Amino acid sequence: MSAEVINGKELAHELRMEMKEQVSQLKQSGITPHLTVILVGDNPASRSYIRGKEKAAAETGMSSDVIELPASTTEDALLQEITKLNEDASVHGILVQLPLPDQISEKQIIEAISPAKDVDGFHPINIGRMMTGDDAFLSCTPYGIVTMIKSKAIPIAGKHAVIIGRSNIVGKPVGQLLLNENATVTYCHSKTENLKEFTKQADILVVAVGKAHAINQDYIKEGATVIDVGINRQADGKLTGDVDFESAQEKAAYITPVPKGVGPMTITMLLKNTIKAAKGLSSH
Ligand code: NDP
Repeated sequence: MSAEVINGKELAHELRMEMKEQVSQLKQSGITPHLTVILVGDNPASRSYIRGKEKAAAETGMSSDVIELPASTTEDALLQEITKLNEDASVHGILVQLPLPDQISEKQIIEAISPAKDVDGFHPINIGRMMTGDDAFLSCTPYGIVTMIKSKAIPIAGKHAVIIGRSNIVGKPVGQLLLNENATVTYCHSKTENLKEFTKQADILVVAVGKAHAINQDYIKEGATVIDVGINRQADGKLTGDVDFESAQEKAAYITPVPKGVGPMTITMLLKNTIKAAKGLSSH
């Protein structure tokens, strides 16, 4: 058996074309959705992510800008910048690129962003609303993952979803979203004993471990859907996932590749959230 590949790049492109239409309608009513990204310091990986976000935003016709601050920026100075953006009606979405330098508390910064402009979906109010199943900005990577699964009409309700990883930005929220879709959810992490026993039960296996090729077909049930969230840079500079694609695709029914998988979907859901913010659709 050879798995069907869920191509995140293609799906992201289709969704952006739909968004382009929505942006054009918003512009006709005098609103240009605008995303402001704040970059503190000069992390090359962050810079490359931001370029991707700006390019994708331009593709949909929305506007974006990047505020670059030196690595020595104090927490107070960054908080002041966020207050200005919270009050600026022309800015609909605010994203502070993580990680931040050590002198700044990520928690303080995330909580300072207005929940109505928190298009990353990291603010505790948005996370809480996602948990209660209320309207919220959903965190982008989990939102993208569920969108990919639904794009192939893969059943979720009643199925066993196993998540490897329990980070606040990927593992926990993706499990919650799948629970909201009526999956039976199991979380695994570094302290899980007999990992394979759980993963081999998974109808949907989401792998967000951060270790190249940690999961191969021995961990996968025949016919499962395998979502590879990992982004690992190899010695040759190429990106690879947490799943050994060649091995896993022999057993899975559906699989996401790296690159061209979850990554492009994450950026796309960020833009979707920014349009939602511009439409004033959040209940904040
Ligand atoms: P974290 O490092 O925050 O979390 C990794 C998780 O994996 C932890 O919960 C950890 O357990 C668990 N883990 C580590 N080793 C094992 C193991 N041997 N067995 C089982 N579980 C294990 O990473 P993130 O969640 O932030 O990111 C995960 C991956 O996804 C990374 O490669 C990252 O680059 C990528 N990523 C991709 C995105 C995209 O858009 N495609 C967006 C965000 C992240 P414990 O909690 O016990 O330590």
